[in-house]
Parts: sequence; C-alpha cells; structure tokens
Amino acid sequence: MTGAEKNNPQSQPKDVAALKKLYLDALIVGAGFSGLYQLHSLRDKLGLNVQVVEAGAGVGGTWYWNRYPGARCDSESHTYCYYFSKELLKEWRWSERYPGQAEILRYLNFCTSKLDLSRSINFNQRVISAIWNEQNKRWVIKTNAGLLIAARYLITAVGCLSSTNMPNISGQSTFKGELYHTGQWPHKGVDFTDKTVVIIGTGSTGIQTIPIVAKHSKHLTVLQRTPNFSVPARNAPLDPSYHEKFCDEINTWQKKMLKSRHGHPWTAPPRKLYKVAKKDRDVILEKAWKTGGLRFRESFNDILIDEQSNKIMSDFIRTKILDTVDDPIIGESLLPVDHPFGTKRPPIDTNYFETFNRDNVDLVDIKQNPIKKFENRGLELEDGRYITADIVIFATGFDAMSGALLKMGIVGHQSLSLDEAWKEGPTTFLGLGVHKFPNLFIITGPGSPSVLTNMPRAIEQHVDWITSLLRYCEAYNIVTVEAEKEAMLNWTSHVTSVANQTLFPKANHSWYLGANIPGKPRTFMPYADGLDKYQSYCVLIAERKYSGFKMMDEKHDQK
Ligand code: NAP
Repeated sequence: MTGAEKNNPQSQPKDVAALKKLYLDALIVGAGFSGLYQLHSLRDKLGLNVQVVEAGAGVGGTWYWNRYPGARCDSESHTYCYYFSKELLKEWRWSERYPGQAEILRYLNFCTSKLDLSRSINFNQRVISAIWNEQNKRWVIKTNAGLLIAARYLITAVGCLSSTNMPNISGQSTFKGELYHTGQWPHKGVDFTDKTVVIIGTGSTGIQTIPIVAKHSKHLTVLQRTPNFSVPARNAPLDPSYHEKFCDEINTWQKKMLKSRHGHPWTAPPRKLYKVAKKDRDVILEKAWKTGGLRFRESFNDILIDEQSNKIMSDFIRTKILDTVDDPIIGESLLPVDHPFGTKRPPIDTNYFETFNRDNVDLVDIKQNPIKKFENRGLELEDGRYITADIVIFATGFDAMSGALLKMGIVGHQSLSLDEAWKEGPTTFLGLGVHKFPNLFIITGPGSPSVLTNMPRAIEQHVDWITSLLRYCEAYNIVTVEAEKEAMLNWTSHVTSVANQTLFPKANHSWYLGANIPGKPRTFMPYADGLDKYQSYCVLIAERKYSGFKMMDEKHDQK
C-alpha cells in the first residue's frame, strides 16, 4: 500500500505555484463534468490522495471553453446534471428547457463549491507528458506550467470534444481582422456591432451561433461545405412549478434514463416508420416536430437502422427546410443529401433556417467553390471571389474522442506511446482501459457510448465503475490493472460490428468516424449498442472480478 502517500497532509499542497512536485494516489486530468465527479468519488468516498490538473483557469471543461454566442446543450436541463446527489439536484433550479452555456458553467461552479472541490484542483496546468514508470509502478506527469506529478493511477477526464479542429488555410497570418474558433471563445466576448462576419462550418455549433451572429452583425456570410439536418429545439423558460414536480419524481427520471439507449428519459415507441400508413405517420411526425429537440428522432424506433424509414424522416425534414427558406435556390443549397438523418450528430436549433431569410445573410457553397486563402481583409475563394470580413469564426469542430488524449504525450509500458498504439485507430477495453497502459483509465473514451448519449449519464456510470474498481484494488493490494490484449481487441471489434449493424457508417464525413480530420484513421469510435446494454457489460465484468483486466499485486503475483 502507499501509506506514505495516502491522506498525507504534506502532499496536499497549500500553494501549488510554490510546490512543483506532487506525490499522489491518483491524478485526474480535466475539471469538467467527469473530472469533478471523479475527484469527489476518489477523494471523499475512497479517501485517496487525489488531485486534478486542468488547462483552464476555472472548472467546466466543454462549458468553460465553448462560450460562443448561442452555446447551449441539446439535452434537457433536468437530465443534464449530476444524479449522484439528490441534494444537488433539488437545490439547483434550471431556468429553461435546455441549459445555456453560462447556466451550465454556474451549475458546475455551484457543485464545485458545495463539494469543496477547488482545493484539490490545479488550474492553468496542461499535461504535456505522462510516462509510465515500470520500476516504481507510477505515472510521471508533467504540465506546461512546471508541475511534476507521480501518481499510481492516471484518470483522463479530458472530454470527447475538446481538441479543436483548426483548418490550415494559407495566408491566415496575413489576415488583419479578428479570428476565432468557437471552441476557444474569448471570455470577454466579441462585439459584432457594425462588423462584417464570416462563419465557416454548419455543424451543431455553427447552427447554434449563426442566428445570433446574424442578429448582431452588419453582415454575415456562412461558408457551408456540407448542408446539415437540424430540428427545432423549441427552447422555452421553465415554469417554476416544473422543478417542484421534478423533485417528487427524481427516481423515475433516473430509472428511465438508465434504461434507455441514449441516457435520456424517454424511449422510442416500438413502431417502425416505414410500416405506418402515410396519413398516420405524417400526424406523428408533425407532432414530434412541434415537440422538437432530440425527441423528434425517437418518434419511431428504427431511424438509425432502417434506410427506408430514415429516408421518410429525412424527406420530412428536407420539406420543412424548403418550407422555411423563402428563396428556393438557397433552400435547395441548404438541403442535406450526403448522409441519412441522425448518422451525424443531429443538431437542434433556434431559427437556423429562418436566418437565411434575412437581408444581411449570405450562404456560400465552399464544396463547389473552396476557400483558396486568407487575404488582409477577408478570404479569397477558388473562383477568385473575394469575401470581406472583419471577423472570421471557425465553427469547424474537433478532433473528437481521441484528439485530446493523443495530445497528452502518454507513454505506457515498454515505452509504447498511445500515438503508436492507436496509429490504426483507438483500441480500448470498454472504452476505459488500454493494453500496455497500466493504471490508466479513460472516462468516456473511444469504445464507450459517450457521445451517443446524454453525457452526464455516461460520465456517472464510468466514474462509479472506475471508483469501484479502484476500491477493489485498494482492498486487495493490487498494484497494477491493465486491459488484456485479447479483451481489448475483442471489444474493439464488437464496437465496429455493432456500428456496422446501424446506418452510422453511411455518414462518410462524420467525426464519429474520425473522417473530419485529414489523415486520422477511420474507425467508428463510440459504442452504438446503447448505454443500457453497455452498463450490463460493465456490471458483468465487475462481477467476474474484472475479467479482461490483468491485476498484479505487490509481489507481482497475478490476482
Ligand atoms: P462538427 O459537427 O464537426 O461541424 C464542423 C463543421 O465545420 C462542418 O460543417 C464541417 O463541414 C465544417 N468544416 C470542418 N472543417 C472544415 C474545413 N477545413 N473547411 C470548411 N469547413 C469545414 O463540429 P461542431 O459543430 O463544433 O459540433 C461538434 C459536436 O459538438 C456536435 O456534433 C455535438 O456533439 C457537440 N455540440 C453539441 C451542442 C449541443 O449540445 N447543442 C452544440 C454544439 C456542439 P463538413 O460537414 O463538410 O465536414
């Protein structure tokens, strides 16, 4: 055991800047939803000596960085929060159907303060290397601000969408205007008054920010490479009585979420769209469209597995787009045709398609006419067209799921880097562990349901599972835990085969596949068989004393 490290007040730094070295039981990287709960679980439930390092100056993860206008979650407020504490659930009151960025950030700060987490978080510390020391059975981690940490366990809570994708467009340094990526938005905000703005990208982020920027700027040009589906969010303020009712029904909400495929408190009725008569299905679709949000897709249960049903739903949305956009040529340019609805993460919006009816908004198809280069005062397209801009916004997404992990310089057993191990795509056991990377645990990693779910449900499940595993290790003097090669390869091929039974692989350019990043290996990364089934696997593995993980004690005996 590590009595010297465990609960040693001397290793709890009062002033991190003054102390450059930390000796810990566990280091957690990231102070978003997952890092905060993992910290609480290991420190306050297991009594481990644990700290967090966080690149930002505050907690919040995704919601700390993504402060662009219109940033809002597409999970509904009362589901997008921690359920491990009824006290937190009851005390926090959400104001709208979907929580906005600022409200989520306030919520996470509220939880941080209630649980007294800040004292264990080292802010402004980005991990630059994490190397497994086989002799000491420790991870040795360095940060950009000079912290050197030795920890028995390394837990990454770095988020699935945190490594920004900034396209390399020539001449960028010659541009004299302001340039932003939505995922690294300035804290002081951006003033669009009387400004000519260009937004590149029409994913969930672009679709959220375009209507707001259009409203506040002199002129907006949207550079669209691929048209996207979007469903109205139908956001609205919540009646104060909603919260009281919710408090009486917390257990029911929780049960429903955990029983579902996607971690939301509803499940699709057992009906196939293509089998329902046209007049009946039109009524159902219209009603679902009025309800809005992610529930729309769940009005039938075969949208992600049956091409015929998906086409009917996709056509329904295309008709809505044409009905909304006044100019039929612009309407046509906004029609998504390259992927079935829902096989890319479906955005939900407030007045997205309506925005193209404004006089101050232009749409440019950059698949037909790609960006050639930046100029002093704007962008030049391949055909020589010049687009003036005071501000250019990249809403170009992320190197999803594996990007942030690979940037950390992780090197495991026998000097194997994670880069090398994943050169043909991420391989994990349950998304949680990687062979040759002992005592490394990934929260919501590739191979777990993560981004296909309501994230806090997937996060709580992972954190609880990792916490139970570490409790087991502490109880049985286990020194190293490592995913076995066979278990990892079997799981990874199961992840692929499950995805292949759905329509997901039909979206050729989706970030689920890594296809949005030039040169990234194409593998379908999230686990598509549902959070409900995934949880059952995890329970089974734990009941079998963590079969699939090799465990060694202090005497190097396998347990
Ligand atoms: P995204 O879905 O990857 O969309 C990026 C957009 O930028 C796409 O339109 C893409 O075009 C375009 N793009 C990328 N590289 C480009 C290049 N080199 N030149 C021109 N265009 C380029 O990223 P995102 O919109 O940031 O969303 C990422 C994910 O974050 C979402 O899917 C969702 O999971 C999450 N998110 C959630 C919410 C919410 O909860 N409401 C809000 C925002 C984001 P192509 O399609 O042609 O690649």
